[in-house]
Amino acid sequence: MSDIQTHLRRYLETESLLNIFFSTFDYCGPECIQAAITANDNKPVAGCCRAEYHKLFDLEHPAFELLRLEREKLFGKPQDHAWSNPVSPCEYHNPENGCVLTTHKSPVCIAFLCRKGIYRLREHYQIFTYDYLGMYYAMEWILTGDLSDHQYREFKDSILDMTQRIRNVSTCKQ
Ligand code: SF4
Ligand code: SF4
Repeated sequence: MSDIQTHLRRYLETESLLNIFFSTFDYCGPECIQAAITANDNKPVAGCCRAEYHKLFDLEHPAFELLRLEREKLFGKPQDHAWSNPVSPCEYHNPENGCVLTTHKSPVCIAFLCRKGIYRLREHYQIFTYDYLGMYYAMEWILTGDLSDHQYREFKDSILDMTQRIRNVSTCKQ
């Protein structure tokens, strides 16, 4: 396996951990998107997918190119998606269900969490380590191979730790 393939595998593994973290947190859908749909006469909304973020901040780097190629094999090219009622400029945004990219998102799409989401982590779960830009750059550096093995392991452990904290608080409240 080439270095670039190894970096992409690490990136996808970390994306998977962050997907579990966000689904355990379960904030965006019930607390934000649902309220926005209600306020919009029950019509679909774009949420925070208000640009073509799948390419906007990507680097010109072979690992980003490999990520894009694998994504397009799995989910099609952006121009393959034509929604009859688009609500977002991002082609991958399904108006009914949100992002079609269950994996292989760009770093900014994986890492983004708005200020109110970050406050919720702080207030409800005493998690002070979710820093959007820090997460974004860590994902970028995993993909380009600029995060050391040691930093990579620490980063993964920190995601697992945050996820477990949310679980612990949720269990205590039951
Ligand atoms: S990140 Fe913030 S704005 Fe975006 S969907 Fe989640 S709660 Fe809403
Ligand atoms: S790729 Fe997905 S997460 Fe990123 S902007 Fe488009 S719909 Fe949103």
